[in-house]
Amino acid sequence: MKNYETVMGLEVHVELATESKLFCACSAKFGAEPNENVCPACAGMPGMPAVLNKRAVELGIAAGLLTNSEIANVMTFDKKNYFYPDLPTGYQITQLYSPICRNGSIKIPLCGGVARSDGVVSEKIITLKQIHIEEDAGKLVHDARTETTLVDFNRAGVPLIEIVSNPDFRTAEEVVAYLGKLRSLLSFAGISDCKMQEGSMRCDVNISVRRAAGANGAHGAQDEGEAPLGVRTEIKNMNSLKAIAAAIRYESQRHIDALETGCETLIQETRRWDDDKGETFSMRGKENLADYRYFPNPEIMPVCISQDWIEAVRNSMPKSSHEIYNLLTKEYNLPEYDGKIISNNKNLADIFEQTLKQYPSPREIAGWIIVELLSLQKEDNKEEISIDCGKFAKLIELVDNKTINRNVGKKLLVKVFEEGIDPVSYVEENKLGLVSDAGVIEDTVRAVLAENGKTVEEYKAGSQKVLGFLIGQAMRKLGGKADPAIVNSLMTKFLEE
Ligand code: ZN
Ligand code: MN
Repeated sequence: MKNYETVMGLEVHVELATESKLFCACSAKFGAEPNENVCPACAGMPGMPAVLNKRAVELGIAAGLLTNSEIANVMTFDKKNYFYPDLPTGYQITQLYSPICRNGSIKIPLCGGVARSDGVVSEKIITLKQIHIEEDAGKLVHDARTETTLVDFNRAGVPLIEIVSNPDFRTAEEVVAYLGKLRSLLSFAGISDCKMQEGSMRCDVNISVRRAAGANGAHGAQDEGEAPLGVRTEIKNMNSLKAIAAAIRYESQRHIDALETGCETLIQETRRWDDDKGETFSMRGKENLADYRYFPNPEIMPVCISQDWIEAVRNSMPKSSHEIYNLLTKEYNLPEYDGKIISNNKNLADIFEQTLKQYPSPREIAGWIIVELLSLQKEDNKEEISIDCGKFAKLIELVDNKTINRNVGKKLLVKVFEEGIDPVSYVEENKLGLVSDAGVIEDTVRAVLAENGKTVEEYKAGSQKVLGFLIGQAMRKLGGKADPAIVNSLMTKFLEE
């Protein structure tokens, strides 16, 4: 059996985190009722002007800065023509001739071909052909029950960037590492939320297979194959890292089998991944550039991108994952492990930052996020954790000041996470925090009286106001876990003795 090398290039579509669409003022937010965010412009009515969203260009510039790309002095938009029911205009506005970015690169962490999140062992540089801005299409909804197809134009005209790599990938692990790195760069910069499940990050893999040059090519070598490349197929629109890795392994084996046995002839085509069956299937013959009849869009003026504009974008960019890692480990003195976990995930970093504003105890907050929140998320199987950080902060404080113990705290966290309860009032209503042992409270009150002989004398001499001080002392000794009314009545009673 000969050795084969898999060669892949990626096209990643990322929805930009703008408020409005690319060429009209409709909301670009996910989750609205079908066709709620549609106007004559994005519904493709004739004669509607296209007004470019400035923020989308700025996010495109930011993506260029993060990927060491050359940013165009002048960029233009083109029309890509094709007919499909989810595309109301019959063409997509995109950039072919003068895209916003060219020739970028992204470093991915690798260890003998296996990506590691816990430390960079070696790196590989993936080079980018270009990044362009374009509009998204609508969405077809197939209703199996009525055997009809409905169209939702909410997504039509939502701004995207498409990041096109060169065919630099050799393994599924490299692809997964690249997507993880891309997601980290783009989400921390606020360019996109990169939620694969909601389709705001989608990946197409162009894949071919060729005979490797050396039978035992050195592991991890950049390019061990011999030209020319084999027949290329494209696997479209996958929405989870697991599916992408499985699809790549399946498709590359299909190519190898075809070459080895000759039982199947490979053709250039677009394929889809069937997650249930665990196989790819043919969708359509792959179009060539000419099929799209690209031409410059005469309705949108060329856009000049000045050096000043680029610098302004650079200066307004939020902290990167790496900068947050330094902040966590150097400023807040968190352990490296905690710093890595939180700074690798924009969602966790945001929760950390918001919670810290309400309760400034970084170490405790990090511990609760990493140990408790992450395991709740695993059970929940959601891409993102959504929790009220104010309530989360209060809960941590309740445990920290020993109002409740940690076990009660964990149970309460589930209630905060799932039902959104207010931990403070919940603890009060359910008397979770009270010391119920009367003997403990009595002993504490007597101890406070014994330690504060002078204050007791003041009280007996008629100074009522010191009572509050004595009660405060007892409450502190009880870690706040006693009912102040009981402490008050015991204190008064013992003082009268
Ligand atoms: Zn619109
Ligand atoms: Mn595209």
